[in-house]
Amino acid sequence: MKVPFLDLKSEYAELRDEILPALDRICQESAFVQGHEVEAFEKEFAAFCGTKHCVALSSGTAALHLGLLALGVQPGDEVITTPNTFLATAEAITYCGASPVLVDIDPATANIDANLIERAVTRRTRAIIPVHLYGRPADMDSIRSIAARHDLRVLEDAAQAHGARYRSAMVGSLGNAAAFSFYPTKNLGAYGEGGALTTNDDLIAQFARAARSHGQTARYAHEFVGYNYRMQGFQGAVLRIKLRHLNAWTEKRRAIARGYRRILQNARIDLPVDDPRDECVYHQFVIYVNSRCSVIAKLAEKEIETAVHYPTPVHLQPAYASLGDPAGTYPLAERACDRVLSLPLFPGLSEEQVRHAADSVLEIVGGN
Ligand SMILES: *Cc1c(COP(=O)(O)O)cnc(C)c1O
Repeated sequence: MKVPFLDLKSEYAELRDEILPALDRICQESAFVQGHEVEAFEKEFAAFCGTKHCVALSSGTAALHLGLLALGVQPGDEVITTPNTFLATAEAITYCGASPVLVDIDPATANIDANLIERAVTRRTRAIIPVHLYGRPADMDSIRSIAARHDLRVLEDAAQAHGARYRSAMVGSLGNAAAFSFYPTKNLGAYGEGGALTTNDDLIAQFARAARSHGQTARYAHEFVGYNYRMQGFQGAVLRIKLRHLNAWTEKRRAIARGYRRILQNARIDLPVDDPRDECVYHQFVIYVNSRCSVIAKLAEKEIETAVHYPTPVHLQPAYASLGDPAGTYPLAERACDRVLSLPLFPGLSEEQVRHAADSVLEIVGGN
């Protein structure tokens, strides 16, 4: 039985009758950039996250960048984040002329270890970016109290965590602002690039609205040098339709994760821990294995596709050689990157496919 890692084509087949007329309306109205569909999506996504504002943007990376600028991050500042993330988290810090300062992870959750943050704080630290990796909320109570003690700002990287809850509060409402990505493979994916910044802070939202459109506060009134980080009209239309399905899709993701856990609970692997007070939205279902290469090859023989998120931590990427953090600096993140393996997980997977993938993993790695 073939188990694809992700299948966006069958999702489109189900949504086609809703999507095509919406895209046709955009074309008829020539509402190609921003426009009323994007504005309506902003209102709906802010309501979904329980925030006062949502500013639609061209990507999650743009959202991280404008979020940091809105929080006052400047050249020479330091911003604390995790080495176990997609490179964009660190890149956004670099775009501001600031330096990423990395803090090792808690291997139980793969998220930044809040117990290690305080020793990384210096006089130049301005902000912390917790990443809710794989859809699992970071330790926000600890992070917010450290931020309060040292007068730091908090920007959530919520690119993988649409709809996740920390205690009972929605991800996206837990810091000064939050960056979401709507890259097609994310839990809420556009049909192209997209992102958003959510916040309860009027000034942050006001800044981001101007900054995404060349610093304009009115047409051709440029208050500062901004960017072209606007969302396309098509993406607003697609995201509005898909947002209406998101809660149901998240329930399916969580049910698939329960299915994997049931079969794999005694397998010779490590699994991330879910805090029962939180709701993980399972952007990825990851396991930790030894001899990953051979496990991947044996699963591929059985037509089970896998992926690795991520094979290399930020500090060991050539792009960040300038950090001067050699191998061994963040041993837990490095060990996670060496052993992590993502199993197929998307709402369209059948129970049989999940069982086949999990049974195959168990057969390959053995049980305890
Ligand atoms: C996808 C992702 C981003 C970047 O989002 P884009 O929309 O691709 O720019 C940033 N951080 C994390 C953790 C991501 O997964």
